[in-house]
Amino acid sequence: MTAPLHFQSIAELSEHLAARRISSVELTQAVIARTKAVESRVHAFNSFDEPDALAQAAASDSRRAGGQSCGALDGIPIGLKDVIAVSGQPLTASSKMLANFVSPYNATVTESLQGAGAVLHGRLNCDEFAMGSSTENSAFGPAHNPWDLTRTPGGSSGGSAAALAAGAAIATLGSDTGGSIRQPAALCGLVGLKPTYGLISRFGLIAYASSLDQIGPFARTVEDAAIVLGAIAGHDPRDSTSFKTEIPDYRAELKRRRGPWKLGIPEEYFGAGLDPEVGAAVEKAIAFYKAQGCEIREVSLPHTHYCLDAYYVIATAEASSNLARYDGIRYGHRSREAKDVLDVYQKSRAEGFGDEVKRRIILGTYVLSSGYYDAYYLRAQKVRTLIRQDFLNAYREVDALITPTSPLPAFKLGEKSADPLAMYLCDIYTIGVNLAGLPALSLPCGFTAGGLPIGLQLIGQPFREADLLATAHAYEQAHDWHTKFASL
Ligand code: GLN
Repeated sequence: MTAPLHFQSIAELSEHLAARRISSVELTQAVIARTKAVESRVHAFNSFDEPDALAQAAASDSRRAGGQSCGALDGIPIGLKDVIAVSGQPLTASSKMLANFVSPYNATVTESLQGAGAVLHGRLNCDEFAMGSSTENSAFGPAHNPWDLTRTPGGSSGGSAAALAAGAAIATLGSDTGGSIRQPAALCGLVGLKPTYGLISRFGLIAYASSLDQIGPFARTVEDAAIVLGAIAGHDPRDSTSFKTEIPDYRAELKRRRGPWKLGIPEEYFGAGLDPEVGAAVEKAIAFYKAQGCEIREVSLPHTHYCLDAYYVIATAEASSNLARYDGIRYGHRSREAKDVLDVYQKSRAEGFGDEVKRRIILGTYVLSSGYYDAYYLRAQKVRTLIRQDFLNAYREVDALITPTSPLPAFKLGEKSADPLAMYLCDIYTIGVNLAGLPALSLPCGFTAGGLPIGLQLIGQPFREADLLATAHAYEQAHDWHTKFASL
């Protein structure tokens, strides 16, 4: 039985569009209808603009009718995390600070998707300024996991994951600073790819921690992730950290690169704190690769236990600097209570930012302050080098690493929101990848007895996304997890 339109993949839908079995307007209407049916329960969207989406869809249909050649994304509804700028649309970062802000320009990824003909549908909920692992830090209220509405979809890109898992988009974009694409992908049963630092332009992405942030796709299948990645990857002169590198045809390479691969199991990623059902599902995936003839080796990433500490020094330091721009003067929230200019700064920031954002600004300002800079920030940067070196050493022996994505399946909303440290521990397996600048993806590898999705993380080598995707594709094609959908 074929899935309803809103649950189909880009690969399937693009064929229907090409064969004129459906139009983009019909598809977009179906996705909008689904969005309206589920949104009051899932709360994945900060906003969506129905007339605008339908106008984009109509434009796609007339391109096709006019005989223009249309790529796989032409006419496909794609949602963007509300930290990615779309000209003329709200851009809030799920913060009161930007609650009334409308973006005057496009992010580079937005232009790339528009250039590929995608229908940009909606601004997706997230933790405020992408800080968090559950969307509970959103100033507009949390998103809910479509597999169990009492649970979190993960975060910070939880709305991007929830929308896709609920059928309210065909693919989405998120951003990943310490796990914000991979962890929600794992908790919602999706593919989520965090590309190599520098592969995708950050121009027009609201900055959280600039040396760690990277935009990437959420998709139903590895092939769909490859399609979206191909559309957004590449050098951009407007982002000096974007890298000049050849962009392969990721989709075509999926079928060309077949392994067997040498896969490393980092012993530090299977210790205390790992949920037994998650551990068992990942072990099964490892056994699958072994049965395919892959060589499986234990490796060690000895500085793993410093990842969280280094991350929360570096990320908060960069956040404190990046968020200094929200001062109530040029844009964003301005306090009505302010009497003088100092008051404008202080009251606007006090009223505009939520607790977690303030906590990080305070911590980040502290670790950068003179007298403490060497002890914290500089030291964390040195530790970061050691962490990257661990991975590069492992890659002398293996092609990629296999780990769980998240130590736990989706947890209950409210369960961790009062305990920042418990929340920070959700990213224990994802953060090292950002510190090292590597590509990694999460893909579904099973369900708990209670029906919650489990994610497998594959970590690859810099700029070798094509290999990473092919490794994931080999697993996906031999399993049917991606054909299961949340019922709601
Ligand atoms: N949960 C991590 C944090 O709160 C990662 C967030 C992210 O990747 N944006 O910083």
